Order: sequence, then C-alpha cells, then structure tokens
Amino acid sequence: MGTIFDGSKAFKHIEKLAVEIGARTAGSKEDHAAADYIKGYFEGLGLDTTVQEFEIETGDVKNASLDVLKPYGESIACEGMSMLGQTGPEGIEGELIHIETTDEEYLSPAITGKIVVTNGVKRKNLPIITKLKPLGFIFIENYPRMQPKHFWGNYSENMAHGNFPGVRVTFEDGFKILKSGATHARIVVEAELSKLKTKNIIAELKGTSHPDEIILVGGHYDTVPGVRGASDNAGGTSITMELARVFIEKGSKRTVRFIAWGSEEMGLDGSNLYAKKIKADDREAKEKDTKSETELDRTRLMVNLDVHGALIGTNVAAVLGPSMLTDSLKLLSKESGVVFDVKEAVYSSDGTPLSAVGVPSVSFSRRSGIDIMMHSSEDIIEYLSPDALESQGRFVEKWMTRYVTSAIAFPFKRKVPEKLMKQIKEYYENWGKDLP
Ligand SMILES: [Zn+2]
Repeated sequence: MGTIFDGSKAFKHIEKLAVEIGARTAGSKEDHAAADYIKGYFEGLGLDTTVQEFEIETGDVKNASLDVLKPYGESIACEGMSMLGQTGPEGIEGELIHIETTDEEYLSPAITGKIVVTNGVKRKNLPIITKLKPLGFIFIENYPRMQPKHFWGNYSENMAHGNFPGVRVTFEDGFKILKSGATHARIVVEAELSKLKTKNIIAELKGTSHPDEIILVGGHYDTVPGVRGASDNAGGTSITMELARVFIEKGSKRTVRFIAWGSEEMGLDGSNLYAKKIKADDREAKEKDTKSETELDRTRLMVNLDVHGALIGTNVAAVLGPSMLTDSLKLLSKESGVVFDVKEAVYSSDGTPLSAVGVPSVSFSRRSGIDIMMHSSEDIIEYLSPDALESQGRFVEKWMTRYVTSAIAFPFKRKVPEKLMKQIKEYYENWGKDLP
C-alpha cells in the first residue's frame, strides 16, 4: 500500500503542541517552542524551510476581577481583556447599564460614564463608543455552559479609540447580574502590554514538472491567551505537518508550500503579512514589466486548515474561489462518502487574506458542539480523536492530489469571483482593518 495520511501520526503532533507545550500565545516562549518543533519537523523531512519573522503587540493579563457592589456584594469569575483597556489595582467603579448589542441603535449618551453589560464590541462602531466614553464593559457569553473566552479584546490599531477596561463572564453569571438587579460594580484589569516577535514557518516542496505553480497549505499554530488550543489549531497544524510527510513520499508535480502561520488569533497577522508582501512585490514588478509572472500570479490555490480533530462533529469547507472549486469539493464529498458542508463564504481565518489578494482559498474545519469551548480553557485534546483527524486529513489529501499532481494543466482560473470579493471587503471593513 502506498503512502496515505495517518491520523495517529498527526495526533502525535497535537500531543506535542497542545499537551506538552500547551498555550501558545503569539510571541510567548511556548509560541517559540512550537515554532521550533514545527520547523524541526519540516527540516527533518528534508524540506527547504524558511521563517518570516514579524513583530506583534500583545497584552498579558496580570490581574482581573469583577465585583458586584450594589445592591449586594459578590465576586464573579471573569477573564480580563488585556488590550481593550487597563486599570490600576484599585480598578474602576460605576453604575451598570445593559444594552443588547453595540449596534448603533443602542449607542446613546445613556452609556456615558457607565459600565456597559452587553455581548461584545462591534469594532466598526468603536468611533461612536469612543465619543460616548463608557467607563468599561462586561461581556456576557452567548450560550450557557461556555467558559469565558480568552480574548485580548482588541488589536493595537484600535487602542487609539480609548481605554475601556473589559471582562468576560459566563452566560449564567451574566444572567444573574441582570436578573438580580445589580446596579454597581467594580472591574479590575491589570495588564502588561509588550512588543514581541513571532513568525510564519514556510517549508517548500519543489514541483517536479510545474515548479512555477505554487499551492499553499497551512494552519496557524498560535492560540488565544492561556488556552491549549488542541482543536484550534494544533489540529490544523498537525494535518499540515502530516500532509507534508505524505506529499514528500508521494511526490509533487507542482510546488507545495506547507505553512504554519503565526499570530492568527491576534488578527490573522502572519497570513496578512504574507499576502501583503506578495501583493506589494506584484505591484512593483508590474509597474516595471507587465509580461513576466509574479509570485502572486504563480500562487494558484491556498488550503487553510483551522479547527480540527473533534471526535463528535461535522466537516465544513468554506470556499473563496471559482464555483468549479466548490463543485469539486461537493463531488468528492459524495464520491468518497465523507460528508462536507461546502459553502462559499468568508471563514475568519488565514485563507481570507490570500483570497483578498486574489488567490482562491478553501478553509477546511470541523464544526462541533464543542465549538462552545473554542477560545476557552476547555479546548483540550480529550475531545479529539485520531480517527476524525484521519478522515479529514485523507479527504484533504485526496482533494489536493488533483491539483498537486493529477491535473496536467491547472484546472481552474486564479480568480476570486466579484460577489465573494465583496464579502471579503465587508469582512475587513467590519473588522476595521485595511485589505492586504
Ligand atoms: Zn483558529
């Protein structure tokens, strides 16, 4: 029997990343340990491996607490959002106000000087929030049984909007705060902000007959703070690593780049940087000469693997590319008897920056009831299975083989349809970030 994707081999990478190393917040020493492990693995396979290093701004919560002060006193468990705002050790005290969302309809001067109890910040409304100057935020998780998510709360470019200390609480605690008629509370979020370095790890397998045509496949290896990220995304990283082993043994007509993306959770930093760079090089080359193909022209497909391995779950593929690509996934799903929910949509992950510069992308993931554990302390290896990983990995391998090796001429145009490009633009707009 020939080489084939092995779920137990992939699972070993998850054990290393999510159990042995643990939480891999971008720029942390665990993040570097993970990067070293992945790089060492690619090099051990004999792949030409390079790193693309970059700087990120990050925030470490040193102390976070929430106390209801009136009409009763109670301490409530919470997660602090280090980059939304900070307080001194004494915290901030204020009156509570509940608004359902931070849509414009609810943003009135009634929130000025108060602690807003709500479900999250709409980033595009940050300018309005800035003007209204609330004192801080308590964010309630959307569903019962969710642990408070570990988010930084904001990205550096939004810090200019002001200092809004914020904490996240469970649905149950949020419910209690509202139902009990709590009127005043104290929030403490002491955090340390720093500039750190992280990297993309890029391992190249040169194509034998079409080395000029490039296929990217990868997943991010970082996590949100203090979270092991077994499913998100040691899972996708492990599939990338195992696919590298498989395609080296099977051989490849086209050039395949296996990429472990850095700092996805802070805001798709690694993939944005990569997309920005090939776009800038393309622009520069085209200003001088319109004939020769640039690296961007030669990058034909991006395969993104983010959130994988759940024992109980269903497979999803989100396409940002020609409809032929969507059809090929639907067809293979039927043919191989592995059900994938295939749709044309933006998946908030590393495929999107590449498609924003015109490279068709497919994001594979595994949707699961345990998605409620994503970005929380419960994203652990116990919920994953080598068999689930193997079924997803083999499907991706089979599908990629069509483009990596089987096709003589590349079978679809390197183009992202206008309607999907519009969705990508909206995604960046809502996020408050420039397109790469
Ligand atoms: Zn992820």
